[in-house]
Amino acid sequence: MSAAQAALFVRSLAQANPAPETELHYTSPYTLLVAVALSAQATDVSVNKATATLFPLADTPEKMLALGEEGVGEHIRRIGLWKSKAKNVIALSRLLIERHGGQVPADRAALEALPGVGRKTANVVLNVAFGEEAMAVDTHIFRLGNRTGLAPGKTPRAVEDALMRRVPPELLRDAHHWLILHGRYVCKARAPECWRCVAREHCNYTDKVFSRLPPSP
Ligand code: SF4
Repeated sequence: MSAAQAALFVRSLAQANPAPETELHYTSPYTLLVAVALSAQATDVSVNKATATLFPLADTPEKMLALGEEGVGEHIRRIGLWKSKAKNVIALSRLLIERHGGQVPADRAALEALPGVGRKTANVVLNVAFGEEAMAVDTHIFRLGNRTGLAPGKTPRAVEDALMRRVPPELLRDAHHWLILHGRYVCKARAPECWRCVAREHCNYTDKVFSRLPPSP
């Protein structure tokens, strides 16, 4: 896909949804960080259900530490990998207090040094909480980047780097949301819904689907 075509692809998503937002519920950089850490291999809906009862009790690192690992576990038991996530939430809360005065640092290296926080989580926090032009590549963006030709790459990092080069600078801030939402709801894993895709004119996928599939039995 040429750079001009890539720009048209992303612009078409932008025009259809001028003010995109994350679907995770949060009230501060800290609650965003916890929600994103909980969302690995879990749906945003399941994370929002868990944090609906967790955050009213613990929306700061200090309150989370007071709640403790078991207390956190009681709220997140329906999320995959909940035991290790409860452990990480407590450990990262402790480190935020010890190293950063209880604040979430706006710094990639400091974020990635927190337990359970990898590049993708750091990118979401840098982008959503601090307004940085960071591109978190999840399973949806990885698939979409490769399928459409927008940002081919064998690893999430390769797709991230390609997107950072190809997305027009003025759209970089929100591109992460447009691409995730597009992958989640339209350019789906099992079968892309090309018949209702606003970017189809600019997409290089050769097996576009132009009719709705029959419902699964
Ligand atoms: S045309 Fe189809 S394959 Fe291409 S981006 Fe749209 S939904 Fe995905």
